[in-house]
Amino acid sequence: MKKDGLYDVTIIGGGPVGLFSAFYSGMREMKTKLIESGPELGGKVSMFFPEKTIRDIGGIPAITGADLVERLKEQAQTFAPTIICGQRISGLERLEDGTFLLTSTQGDIHHTRTIILTVGHGIFEPIKLDIEGAERYESGNLHYSVGELDKFKGKHVLISGGGNAAVDWANELLPIAKKVTVIHRRDEFRGHEQHVTHMSEAAVTLTPYALKALHGESDHIQKVTIEHLETGETRELEIDELIVNHGIRGDLGGINDWGLEMKDGHFVVNNAMETNIPGIFAAGDAVTYPNKLKLITGGFTEGPVAVNSAKKHLQPESPLADLYSTHHDKFVDA
Ligand SMILES: Cc1cc2nc3c(=O)[nH]c(=O)nc-3n(C[C@H](O)[C@H](O)[C@H](O)COP(=O)(O)OP(=O)(O)OC[C@H]3O[C@@H](n4cnc5c(N)ncnc54)[C@H](O)[C@@H]3O)c2cc1C
Repeated sequence: MKKDGLYDVTIIGGGPVGLFSAFYSGMREMKTKLIESGPELGGKVSMFFPEKTIRDIGGIPAITGADLVERLKEQAQTFAPTIICGQRISGLERLEDGTFLLTSTQGDIHHTRTIILTVGHGIFEPIKLDIEGAERYESGNLHYSVGELDKFKGKHVLISGGGNAAVDWANELLPIAKKVTVIHRRDEFRGHEQHVTHMSEAAVTLTPYALKALHGESDHIQKVTIEHLETGETRELEIDELIVNHGIRGDLGGINDWGLEMKDGHFVVNNAMETNIPGIFAAGDAVTYPNKLKLITGGFTEGPVAVNSAKKHLQPESPLADLYSTHHDKFVDA
């Protein structure tokens, strides 16, 4: 068992919101540690869309997921926080002096005065196809996330799903693929109106259809059978690549037992990003409150709010400063 010194704040989860919170925590002069369970930082962005172009972050008209993560990592290093990858935090103990001991599933111990949870949906994995034998194509042309876009060049790509991710991938692949077909079990697609309109005009959309069978050799799907969910009619489609975007299932693991108030799998917070446990704050996809915006840009506000609340928890006299980075000593002469 390893245990290092006492930190002012420990941020759990190294996605975009955790990384930006680590930067902001440094601005507020708190001794900061960031712990990520995976081998890499960047959360869902690194995992599910490193090559997608993100266009809804203020001041950055277009940036790939991978580039955004690189910039966030660079910014997070500004105040030299301790950053640890490969530890899944699971246990929590509150000591008599009000500080916390956090334990990883491997038995590492972290001592901290406050906690900010930026764990997204926990350890996440895509919801997989419920079709017998589908796993054998996962090493071939069945994809639950999209890595390199190049492999879709000149191909007929079938996307199954109707949410943001499916719509985004259809639009992203349209200029690259030979043809993009999207099937969805409902008639309505969920996504930015403009993106849905563009997809509906440029891709082939088939609704309400669902995948019924996959046909192929070794690990390569050659065609699929799809079923019309109202008439029961079936059709076969020849395809080169299949992308399945049926959502993500998250597992919070031991954090479920901390006594945090939850709603639909999210931590309930107030407008100061406080959970029901004093000293524990949360931000990003992990939280719920009225009008929550489940986007990176929403988390980029919640992170600093959580940091300011942690600072106030430690030093009640410290004002919740609307601190301008330009006024910070670190940047005055920069
Ligand atoms: C396909 C797709 C496309 C998207 N496109 C956009 C877009 O264009 N624009 C936009 O704004 N948003 C987009 N989003 C949403 C965006 O990805 C999320 O809003 C954002 O990633 C939330 O960041 P986060 O840091 O709160 O959580 P996450 O990115 O989920 O990161 C949470 C991190 O916490 C870690 N973690 C979890 N549990 C533990 C634990 N117990 N111990 C240690 N670490 C833990 C996880 O491993 C993960 O790295 C998209 C999402 C998807 C799936």
